[in-house]
Amino acid sequence: MSTFVSPDLLPALPADAPRTAGSAAAADAPGALVARAEFPLLAADPTLRYLDSAATAQKPRAVLDALADYYARENANPHRGAYRLSVAATEAYAAARARVARFLGVGDADTLLFVRGTTEAMNLVAGSWGRAHVGAGDEVVVTAMDHHAAFVTWQQLAIARGATFRICELTADGRIDLDHLAALVGPRTRVVAFPHVSNALGTVNPVREIAALVRERSAAIVVVDGAQGAPHLAVEFDRLAAAGVDFYACSGHKVGGPMGIGALVGRRALLEAMPPWQYGGDMISLVEDQRTTWNVLPHKFEAGTPNVADAVGLAAACDLLGALGLDRVLAHERALVGQAMARLAALDGVRVHGPSAERRSGVVSFSVEGVHPHDLATILDERGVCIRAGHHCAQPLMRRLGVSATARASFWVYSDPADVDALVDGVQAAQRLFDGG
Ligand code: PLP
Repeated sequence: MSTFVSPDLLPALPADAPRTAGSAAAADAPGALVARAEFPLLAADPTLRYLDSAATAQKPRAVLDALADYYARENANPHRGAYRLSVAATEAYAAARARVARFLGVGDADTLLFVRGTTEAMNLVAGSWGRAHVGAGDEVVVTAMDHHAAFVTWQQLAIARGATFRICELTADGRIDLDHLAALVGPRTRVVAFPHVSNALGTVNPVREIAALVRERSAAIVVVDGAQGAPHLAVEFDRLAAAGVDFYACSGHKVGGPMGIGALVGRRALLEAMPPWQYGGDMISLVEDQRTTWNVLPHKFEAGTPNVADAVGLAAACDLLGALGLDRVLAHERALVGQAMARLAALDGVRVHGPSAERRSGVVSFSVEGVHPHDLATILDERGVCIRAGHHCAQPLMRRLGVSATARASFWVYSDPADVDALVDGVQAAQRLFDGG
């Protein structure tokens, strides 16, 4: 079973070597941070330009091998069996938790809960902690850049509990307006939720600064949507917790792991005090006719047969990214996003949304005058370039940008300057088509 990318697949140049925008520079720049050969789907079609990694990442061979290997050699229902195969499955699941915890910088692995993804994690925190602690007259704060997974979940909790739902606005260049946040957060605030990185703009938010700001003004819980953080930045949850973060959520499929698995990390004291969110097998301690007591962490929040294979696959993805080094991943993406932004912004009629490249991860959202994002995505698709078009599950943000949709290209470890070339060429082709030229 292969586990890690072999070092000779990595480019010779350091990922943070300076690069400039433009095709000439792109030709000189190093290629992918991890060779496309390591990703079977990309290897199968060298002409494919996959620029939708913010939606889901392509899967490294190591992850596919880990999944197949688990099912071929260790598959059994864990926790319940006295036979060796079930013990092996139980151990594989526990080891996967420890590996994902190490990747996220979590010292106490039992405070990492496996969930289906960030969406489920948000619903868990709102459904358990939120229902127990948010009431009439309280305030729940999110930001205008939150993904619907967080925005709608907290909005609906506020409505259900009679709380006030407040939205922190953004600066003109697409960052969380910290002055506005400081004005919003006060003694009645029970929850402050925000994304580590905006999926629509790529903005990297100053998590520890925001947590400190909330702590100074309230006893609110700080909930970070890390769906777009974990694939690109070292999370170091224990350090975030020391600064005041209470919960951090992420999705496995965006870090190269399988779909249907993710992680929610929380402070032990909060998790222990929270009521269960779902009921069923594994999460109980003692079931009497008229009452039930709960299992310890993490099992209290993992009702039913766990998703062992995908946890093992996620652990393989985390091992790979951890070995690669998140600082290199971010530097690589920023170099590509910087090239893409500069070249797109230089085109007549193209508006790039969001902050400068050094304040974002590998996402560039843009609008092309006279070309609807969906048409642009279709034209690019004909050229083998996959981008996303739409509201990116961020309708409140789109309204603030004054658009109904944007085009979004997003880069990851397998992206290279040829992807930028293909994107820019495709945008120009679309402009010619719509100009009738
Ligand atoms: N939050 C952000 C910032 C996202 O980008 C996404 C997915 O795109 C989600 C939450 C939801 O993640 P999932 O669909 O994996 O639950």
